[in-house]
Amino acid sequence: MTLHHLDHVWHDSTHRGSALLVLLAIAHNANEAGEGQITIRTLSTLVRVETRQLHYILQRLEGKDAQAPPGPAELTVLRRIGAANVYRLTLPAMATCPQCRRLS
Ligand SMILES: [Zn+2]
Repeated sequence: MTLHHLDHVWHDSTHRGSALLVLLAIAHNANEAGEGQITIRTLSTLVRVETRQLHYILQRLEGKDAQAPPGPAELTVLRRIGAANVYRLTLPAMATCPQCRRLS
């Protein structure tokens, strides 16, 4: 965990509610490059949402939810069968942040 990534989520994310909580949980588990692994079950337990709702939230954070207004992707998800997903924080502000560019 780096507080730097948590700060990006707190200050730069456009999301709110459960989606913001998902990003915070992922940032809490992320390494210095902004990547982390966490199972869907653990993430749904942390955020206190059903796994079905969590899948919708992840799509929204990836900018892939057709039901939500378009917005920039703040997360990419490498979905793996039989293993924890790999998450990478991709908030647009991170692309121009000197510290994030140095760490990635
Ligand atoms: Zn940064």
